[in-house]
Amino acid sequence: MEELMRRSEKLNTVGQLAAGVAHEIRNPLTTLRGFLQLQEYSNKLNLDHVRVMLSELERINLIVGEFLILAKPQAVKFKMRDVRDIISEVSAFMSSEALMHNVVIKENYTKDDCCIPCEDNQLKQVFINVLKNAIEAMPNGGHVHIAIQRLANHVSVQVTDEGIGMDEETLQRIGDPFFTVKENGTGLGIMVSQKIIQSHQGLMELSSQLNVGTTVRILLPLQEDRTTQLAEASNL
Ligand code: ADP
Ligand code: MG
Repeated sequence: MEELMRRSEKLNTVGQLAAGVAHEIRNPLTTLRGFLQLQEYSNKLNLDHVRVMLSELERINLIVGEFLILAKPQAVKFKMRDVRDIISEVSAFMSSEALMHNVVIKENYTKDDCCIPCEDNQLKQVFINVLKNAIEAMPNGGHVHIAIQRLANHVSVQVTDEGIGMDEETLQRIGDPFFTVKENGTGLGIMVSQKIIQSHQGLMELSSQLNVGTTVRILLPLQEDRTTQLAEASNL
């Protein structure tokens, strides 16, 4: 009985992982397809588009690589990168998606340096997931506000939408693998994002009010492995 349970748990994990991989590579694949279609329609090669396609291919390569890392644990390499750069790249990348849904992204970034040790592709994935959720929460359009602040020991990123919001019960369940209220949702975005933020020793919190909107708040330490930082963060 115990063995059976262990085996089914394992299968469950494998299934979750497979769904996770599919979810993570669908975004860059969609972009790649879009840009390839553009080349086909216009019947000529646009070098700028080729560059975007190459960088999306690189993303897929990195994501697949990450799952190989999971399969064979080794240290993820953190580099110093400015959170403002990472987020403005994501926001530019999501701008056409936002436009299609009548969503305007408003950015309010601090002038202070926001360099943190991070795996920038993982953080990009987090912000893509959060922005996608914000856009999907506003079927009639609206604003998404992205605020970046530098605190004593953290960079704070706040993403606020004017969407459908969540009731208490939904708020409790988000982050559970496969929990989704969407017809085409995977229910993996928040779980994957929380895992990534945890691996950066950060915090991710969601607050929401039904029919008013949702705020996602992410805190990322400016320096690696400072146990005091989380204590500071939870007192904020
Ligand atoms: P998916 O987007 O595939 O449903 P996620 O893990 O990204 O999976 O989100 C899980 C659920 O959390 C969503 O189905 C939705 O119910 C809720 N949710 C997440 N972000 C928001 C948001 N900004 N506004 C309202 N609901 C949200
Ligand atoms: Mg999502």
